[in-house]
Amino acid sequence: MLFTPEHEELRRTVERFCHQEINPHVDEWEEAGIFPAREVFRKLGALGLLGLTKPEAYGGAGLDYSYSVVLAESLGHCTCGGVPMAIGVQTDMATPALARFGSDELRREFLAPAIAGEMVACIGVSEPTAGSDVAAIRTTARRDGGDYVINGGKLWITSGTQADWMCCLASTSDGNPHRNKSLIIVPMQTKGVKVERKLHKIGMNSSDTAQIFFDDVRVPQRHLIGQEGQGFTYQMLQFQEERLWGAANALQGLDNAIRNTIEYTRSRKIFGRSVLDNQVVHFTLAELQTEVEALRALVYRATELYLAGKNVTPLASMAKLKAGRLTREVADKCLQYWGGMGFTWENPVSRLYRDGRLASIGGGADEVMLSIICKLAGTLPKG
Ligand SMILES: Cc1cc2nc3c(=O)[nH]c(=O)nc-3n(C[C@H](O)[C@H](O)[C@H](O)COP(=O)(O)OP(=O)(O)OC[C@H]3O[C@@H](n4cnc5c(N)ncnc54)[C@H](O)[C@@H]3O)c2cc1C
Repeated sequence: MLFTPEHEELRRTVERFCHQEINPHVDEWEEAGIFPAREVFRKLGALGLLGLTKPEAYGGAGLDYSYSVVLAESLGHCTCGGVPMAIGVQTDMATPALARFGSDELRREFLAPAIAGEMVACIGVSEPTAGSDVAAIRTTARRDGGDYVINGGKLWITSGTQADWMCCLASTSDGNPHRNKSLIIVPMQTKGVKVERKLHKIGMNSSDTAQIFFDDVRVPQRHLIGQEGQGFTYQMLQFQEERLWGAANALQGLDNAIRNTIEYTRSRKIFGRSVLDNQVVHFTLAELQTEVEALRALVYRATELYLAGKNVTPLASMAKLKAGRLTREVADKCLQYWGGMGFTWENPVSRLYRDGRLASIGGGADEVMLSIICKLAGTLPKG
C-alpha cells in the first residue's frame, strides 16, 4: 500500500488549507494577476507543508516522495491552477537540486527559509530563445575573482516578480551543451537583476509570470549548486519530480470539474428533462472519470517505482503527457455541457479550461514528452 493514515491526514490538512486560506481569495488574486506568495507560504511553512521531502536538518520533514504526490494531488482542491503551480515551484521545482546537491552553507541560507516560507523561490530555465530545447539556453556565468558574473535573461518565470532567489541554469563554460551548464542560486535583489515585465496570460492568472534580465550580475562562486558542469543533469533530475508533481496536481481538479458538471447538468432542465439524463452526457462523464482514474493509477505506479529507486523518466513523462491531454479533454467536454454558463469567465470549468491549457506546454510540451518516451524506447531517429 502506497498510502498510510499519515498520508490521509496530510490530504485532509491540505484540503482544509485550500478551502480556508486560498479559495476565499482566488477571485481577487486572479483579478490582480498575482497572489501574495510570502504570506501564503508562511502559513504553509508553519504547517510544515513546504518541506515534506526535504532534510530535517533544514527544517524539512524528511519524508519520501509519496508525500509530495499527496500534497500535489490535494492542492487540486484549490479553485485555480496558479497558486498550486507556484507552491509546486517552491517545493518540487526550484528546490530539489539545492536540497540534494547544495553545500550545507547554501542550504542554510536559501533552502531553510524556503521550507519555512520566509523566502519565495523561482526556477530559471526557460529563455526567449530556449524553452523545449533546454541545452540551447544563452545565459552565461563566467568566473571572475571569487564570483560568477551572470549575463542573459529568463522568460516565463513563475513567481518571478516576488521571488527572493532563483535557481538559475547558466552556461559556465563553452563546449558540450550537456556538460557546460550549472545551477546557481541568484538572489533576486542583486544589482543587475531586472524584472522586466509581468506577462499577461490567458490563464494561471493568480500566479505572476515574469521576464527577467541579468546584466553583469555578480554572485559568489559558493552559490553554485553541486559541481560545475552538472547543471543540465541536475535539472533533468529536477524535471522528473516536476513532471510527476504536475500530473498528480491535475487529478483532483479533474475530479472536481466532472463532479461539478454532474451537479449542474442534473439540475439544468432542457426539453423537459435534465441535461444529465441524455445518455451521451452521462456516458461521456463516466468515460472521462475512467480516464482520470487511469491517470491516477499511472501517477501512483510511477511514485511507487520512484520510491523503490527505479528510473521513472518514461512513466513520469507519460503521466505528464496524459495529464496535459486529459485536462484539455475534460475541460473542453465539461465546458460544453454548461452551455453559455461555461463560456463565462468566473465559471469553475472555464477556469480549468484556461489554466489547464498550460499542462500541455509548461515543464516540457507534449511533444517533448513524446520525444523522451520514444528516445527511451529506442524509436526516436538519431541525430
Ligand atoms: C505560465 C507559465 C509558467 C512557466 N513557468 C516557468 C518557470 O517557472 N521556469 C521556467 O524555466 N520556465 C517556465 N515556463 C516555461 C515553459 O516550461 C516553456 O514554455 C515550455 O518548456 C515550452 O517552451 P517554449 O515556450 O519556449 O516553446 P518552444 O520551445 O518554442 O516550443 C513551441 C512548441 O513547439 C512544439 N515542439 C517542441 N518540441 C517539439 C518536437 N520535438 N517535435 C514537435 N514539436 C515540438 C510544441 O508544441 C511546443 O509547444 C513557464 C511557461 C508558462 C507559459
